[in-house]
Amino acid sequence: MGDWRERPAPRKARDAGGTAPERAGAGGAAVRGPVDADGAAARTGPGQATKAHAPGLPRHVRVAIIGAGFGGLGAGIRLRQAGMTDFVILERAASVGGTWRDNTYPGCACDIPSHLYSFSFAPNPDWAHSFSRQPEIWGYLDDVADRYGLRGHLRLGTEVTEARWDSGLARWRLRAGGVSLTADVVISAAGPLSEPRLPEVPGLADFPGEVFHSARWDHGARLDGRRVAVVGTGASAVQIVPEIQPTVARLVLLQRTPAWVLPRRDRVITTPEKWVYRHVPPAQRLARLGNYLAREPAFGAFVARPGILKAAQRIAVRNLARSVPDPVLRAKLTPRYVMGCKRILLSSDFYPALVQPNVEVVGAGLARVDGRTVIAADGTAQDVDVIILATGFRAVDAPMAGRIAGTGGVTLAQAWGGDMRALRGTTVPGFPNLCLVIGPNTGLGHSSMIHIIESQLRYILDYLATLDRTGAAALDARRGAQERWCAGIERRMASSVWATGGCVSWYLNAAGRNTTLWPGSTLGFRRATRHLDASEYDVITA
Ligand SMILES: Cc1cc2nc3c(=O)[nH]c(=O)nc-3n(C[C@H](O)[C@H](O)[C@H](O)COP(=O)(O)OP(=O)(O)OC[C@H]3O[C@@H](n4cnc5c(N)ncnc54)[C@H](O)[C@@H]3O)c2cc1C
Repeated sequence: MGDWRERPAPRKARDAGGTAPERAGAGGAAVRGPVDADGAAARTGPGQATKAHAPGLPRHVRVAIIGAGFGGLGAGIRLRQAGMTDFVILERAASVGGTWRDNTYPGCACDIPSHLYSFSFAPNPDWAHSFSRQPEIWGYLDDVADRYGLRGHLRLGTEVTEARWDSGLARWRLRAGGVSLTADVVISAAGPLSEPRLPEVPGLADFPGEVFHSARWDHGARLDGRRVAVVGTGASAVQIVPEIQPTVARLVLLQRTPAWVLPRRDRVITTPEKWVYRHVPPAQRLARLGNYLAREPAFGAFVARPGILKAAQRIAVRNLARSVPDPVLRAKLTPRYVMGCKRILLSSDFYPALVQPNVEVVGAGLARVDGRTVIAADGTAQDVDVIILATGFRAVDAPMAGRIAGTGGVTLAQAWGGDMRALRGTTVPGFPNLCLVIGPNTGLGHSSMIHIIESQLRYILDYLATLDRTGAAALDARRGAQERWCAGIERRMASSVWATGGCVSWYLNAAGRNTTLWPGSTLGFRRATRHLDASEYDVITA
């Protein structure tokens, strides 16, 4: 079966010397990037232009940023806008894009409208659909890296294998791409969903066909006319299944828990609309605001009044009833927890795909594999040629935490002990001058993560300004401050649908604590991160 566990992320075609169409073919959308500041149509989209890799690493930088997804690129842009140029962005892959570079599976798209799921300061008037496809979002990020002058800061193919706080020097010592450097401040934007979660299933390693994770799609694997098992029914699976169902001989969907699925109101953005967005920028800001306001009130239902979600649940029940006439299949697909407890999925073609004659939904997870036979926990056995693991990501035990060692050599993973915590989602006691982008309890169930990222970046800029203003070498979050912050989170979390909705989700750690989501409004988070409160930090002098 080969080394599926070790298979590297698909590399961006252009950086690997390939061509864009290979990639665009998977998602189906033509790639077209945003416009230049002067309004001229921009080049871009992955694959169109090749830029040289940045030269070697400096010995020391003021700021080292880990990761070149929305978080890392956003951090770089904000630093430059604040007049700071002494920084590098260390990215292990061969191109920028993070999530949107790695997830090349058929049908991959955002589930928050693109006008909102993009940087507020870098609108793209050319989004082709309300919910953009992966190639287009990837192209957007590639273009943003150019437009905001990040190329000279990027060090691609440079994996950070260690970041160690040197208390004597009051600096971080990093090992990146086999080279050492030091940094006053580290911003880790290594991604909340960048490491695939691979299930420990007996016999899987000996499966004789192709096995791959949805985020490491094997574009060489032939699916047409073959028997394919899809493991999982989360956000990736609902996008993959409708795309591959028409061409596979047989599709076996192994479902541990059904998801609540609402119709996705996707549409093509017309040429006149794009013209308006390009030439009347306030119109696009208004569209963004509309998207934002349509979603924001939902946080109240998630956090304080899960009962309200039952109204939306009725829409999902009707959607299911309309699409799935067979009562047995419908029962299998009906969740037994309150909507919102697990991520709400948006799709208008998932259920229609499931009722096709070449699809079988197995109402149990994958228990073991015997040769070519996949065997579910309920004993159902099916022979297949390919297994696609749509099994999600290591959201509560990020590997990066094992690579970052703070005061006393204690790693972040050790300090957390499987229970991630951070002050304002960003800083951790014992890890001076380390800022996490999308740290613990910053995720959202109802809106765009870019809003949260931008809030955190504002806080991090204030952090850096505080260092400059005070002449301190470092700031170290106070334990008491973190405890107070986390106590507030616990209080609000207790009544949330994630705690009361009757499900087990990837938001929860092994102890059942929700360490991933922010139990509040995006505005509440923005207020909490508007300024750094110096009383929450110990000052370390040089
Ligand atoms: C399929 C999918 C769809 C999604 N859709 C939405 C959506 O519609 N709306 C929404 O709000 N959110 C969505 N998300 C969540 C999404 O992850 C965030 O919105 C956002 O893209 C995270 O950006 P990031 O920069 O923090 O992380 P990432 O995009 O994951 O980027 C992290 C980067 O860090 C790099 N890296 C990691 N470790 C190292 C290391 N040791 N050294 C060097 N580099 C390293 C990775 O290679 C990667 O490039 C989706 C996630 C997935 C997986």
